[in-house]
Amino acid sequence: MKTDRSHALFTRASELLPGGVNSPVRAFKSVGGEPFFVQRAGGPYLHDVDGNRYIDYVGSWGPMIAGHAHPKVLAAVERTMRDGLSFGVPNALEVTMAEAITSIVPSCEMVRMVNSGTEATLSAIRVARGATGRNRIVKFEGCYHGHGDSFLVKAGSGALTLGLPNSPGVPSALADLTLTIPYNDFDAATELFEKAGSDIAGLIIEPIVGNANCILPRDGYLQHLRDLCTKHGALLIFDEVMTGFRVALGGAQQRYGITPDLSTFGKIIGGGMPVGAYGGRRDLMSQVAPAGPIYQAGTLSGNPVAMAAGLATLELIREPGFHDALERSTHALCDGLESAARDAGVTFHTVRAPGMFGLYFREGPIETFEDAKGSDSARFNRFFHAMLERGVYLAPSAFEAGFVSSAHGEAEIAATVEAARAAFAEVAT
Ligand code: PMP
Repeated sequence: MKTDRSHALFTRASELLPGGVNSPVRAFKSVGGEPFFVQRAGGPYLHDVDGNRYIDYVGSWGPMIAGHAHPKVLAAVERTMRDGLSFGVPNALEVTMAEAITSIVPSCEMVRMVNSGTEATLSAIRVARGATGRNRIVKFEGCYHGHGDSFLVKAGSGALTLGLPNSPGVPSALADLTLTIPYNDFDAATELFEKAGSDIAGLIIEPIVGNANCILPRDGYLQHLRDLCTKHGALLIFDEVMTGFRVALGGAQQRYGITPDLSTFGKIIGGGMPVGAYGGRRDLMSQVAPAGPIYQAGTLSGNPVAMAAGLATLELIREPGFHDALERSTHALCDGLESAARDAGVTFHTVRAPGMFGLYFREGPIETFEDAKGSDSARFNRFFHAMLERGVYLAPSAFEAGFVSSAHGEAEIAATVEAARAAFAEVAT
């Protein structure tokens, strides 16, 4: 596969950008080699600057649930941008977006738009602390909630991939306020709340973990956390930056029937533009400035073009049957991969939720972060490159979930499974 142009760009980039990239996992550090540079994207495909085409299972890390460059999303952006790119004054699209989010996610009685998932989670814990008058927060080992100081404690995603779960630059005075427990461990949560419950402002969780590969909640686990938070007066925060609008229209909270106090979103609601949001109970969100004293602001928040892209995407995914089809495609892909691995004699397991999946080079079931870490990442790295060679782009890390979009049709899934047959055979020994 020709990669001369990407190589030349990466050489230039490496002089000027840390690691040659603007976000760590893009650099292929853990899988080895160099990233390709994208020229354009359409539907399920990325096209690189050397003319190679890849079936894309990263989808810009989640936003492109309707496929790349969807004509309806592009049309909304084009229409909106003609009226100006940013006003710093309220715009009707912000109201439409707030109506869309609150009607799709009933636990969100009010929302505030921000510009990234990181901003959303930072703001949500500020509300939790401000509203409860407590300082401690609880997170889970291997979960990632953006790069805010309080979250870079036993963090997932790139921090995990690169072996930097506790970042330098985070004052210990702040990190010490973040308590971590293992995901899916009922007793650890109970014990922590029994010990420290009256100091805990909130517990933040990826209801389905997508930043330590992919792990589903055990039966009753999310309800257990809901009950503990209620009992101890702490707020339950669902970080649905990844799962929101994906695993069900109303996110993981709809899929599992749990009502969090606060939720955070990103990715899909921006349709590919930089967007995040946090929302929740009216009595909590009413404490955010200028309605209340908890300060949070943003020059570009509620940007009209970003709202237009997000609203067009929400319109697409509100079509009846959208998530059922996404779930069927995810199963078809994962079943196909498992059968290809079996035929090649490779120990392999998948974890699935509608539109997202985890690939494991080990036996299942996968229920804990320890289980996830037990995957053979050296073999994953070889598989990643064997797939890339054959025109399939998986997340360049053994610790990231993959994403399926509505643009991945039967043909792309069949081509992916075909590529996987050869790739599994290559990594079998
Ligand atoms: N929370 C979760 C669950 C995420 O997956 C991510 C990003 N992958 C974030 C927060 C941070 O979002 P952003 O990268 O937009 O800041």
